[in-house]
Amino acid sequence: MDTLFVVPVAHLRRAPGTRLSVSCRAPIPDLVCAGSTVPPDEEVALEAVLESVQGDGAVVVAVTGLVTASWEGECRRCLEPATGVIRVPVRELFSPVGDSEEVYPLVDELLDLEALARDAVLLELPLAPLCRGDCQGLCPTCGANRNTELCACTAPTDARWAALDILRNPADQGAEAEER
Ligand SMILES: [Zn+2]
Ligand SMILES: [Zn+2]
Repeated sequence: MDTLFVVPVAHLRRAPGTRLSVSCRAPIPDLVCAGSTVPPDEEVALEAVLESVQGDGAVVVAVTGLVTASWEGECRRCLEPATGVIRVPVRELFSPVGDSEEVYPLVDELLDLEALARDAVLLELPLAPLCRGDCQGLCPTCGANRNTELCACTAPTDARWAALDILRNPADQGAEAEER
């Protein structure tokens, strides 16, 4: 368990109210959800303040901070690569006693902040990412990427274009239809 995310806290727990700022940054494996992933070589960052707090029967450690990670995936509208950054505020307790879902375990006076960072990232990874907020997606008829091309199916309603449609040779339109 010797990673950059493991922090010894014996000195913190000796005196409740003691604070410690930590800044961890390392890759975390297997950060994957249905729509996106944090690339294996990409570092996940955690900036946090640890504070020992007198809890029920034991001194626990409160962790308050921010987890940051870059993700990549496939745009759900145009299927092109999509990337982004998630920033997740975290506020969690680490306790040497009790084994509940509300607290992280504190074993041998060590905090494993990787578990905290991992959980935060997995909750925030986008399930249906977009390459950009206004992605136009693919034409449902011909499959053209509407961000980069205007296909013939996206018939503009502008009056000037409507006039051109009338001038179009009907035979050409028939040929186009058969190609589909
Ligand atoms: Zn897109
Ligand atoms: Zn089209």
